[in-house]
Amino acid sequence: MGKKKRGQKVCPECGTVNGVRAYYCKECDYAFKMKKRSKNRRGRPVKDWRTLEVGDYIRVIGRSGSYYIKSNGDKIYFTDAGIYHIKQKHGEGLTVIGVGRQSHGFEFLYMGKEKQSKLLDNMFNAPHKLCKVDYIPR
Ligand SMILES: [Zn+2]
Repeated sequence: MGKKKRGQKVCPECGTVNGVRAYYCKECDYAFKMKKRSKNRRGRPVKDWRTLEVGDYIRVIGRSGSYYIKSNGDKIYFTDAGIYHIKQKHGEGLTVIGVGRQSHGFEFLYMGKEKQSKLLDNMFNAPHKLCKVDYIPR
């Protein structure tokens, strides 16, 4: 543990070797200080959305979440990619408000299992892909 090679860095908390570009320790989630941290708006992937809290900022990745299938087979996604602020947590998702350039207004981000909608045959509820971001709007 803790032997670092070129292109690696060692976590000061737990001694785990991480890639030099890691923002967070893969073992203990220690936040490495990065020179360009303030420009990091891409965030890190959220593995378990239930760990998110009201007040957190997240980025919804494009072409994820609930969608419907057009007659020509194209998938149309309901949620715009972009940055959202979490307002409420529910059993199957999050109520958020968009704070990005494309994302605005209240949205419900479905996070349950992918399943056919009860409303329409060609509509599917599907979990959104999320990244957690350290974004504080001005
Ligand atoms: Zn660590």
